[in-house]
Amino acid sequence: MTREHLGVLDQKGFEFGSHSVTHPHLTLISEKNAFQEIRDSRMELQRLSKTPISSFAYPYGDYNAALVRMVQDVGYDAALTIREGNCSQDSDVHALPRKQVLKTPFIICLSLRGPL
Ligand SMILES: [Zn+2]
Repeated sequence: MTREHLGVLDQKGFEFGSHSVTHPHLTLISEKNAFQEIRDSRMELQRLSKTPISSFAYPYGDYNAALVRMVQDVGYDAALTIREGNCSQDSDVHALPRKQVLKTPFIICLSLRGPL
């Protein structure tokens, strides 16, 4: 994806989220390196997109209590796991479950052409 792609998607109303710098298993690297991955990916994506980055997705869905704290400390408003489930008012916003969306490329193509 290029900077130009980011601009087009931003104009279409897409929100960007961070996913680390090198896509490591964050639970298997040092806390210092994990913090850098979480912080630096946000900073770089904000620099490239010129938009605030408020969400993070844990690579491979790997997370633990220390990583949740880091994501909060870096300033993300929300973080996503790959745990299948519904969100509720009781959900931890820094360890949200997800729903799998099938046929995503088709939906994205429609969205790029205009409102659904
Ligand atoms: Zn990934």
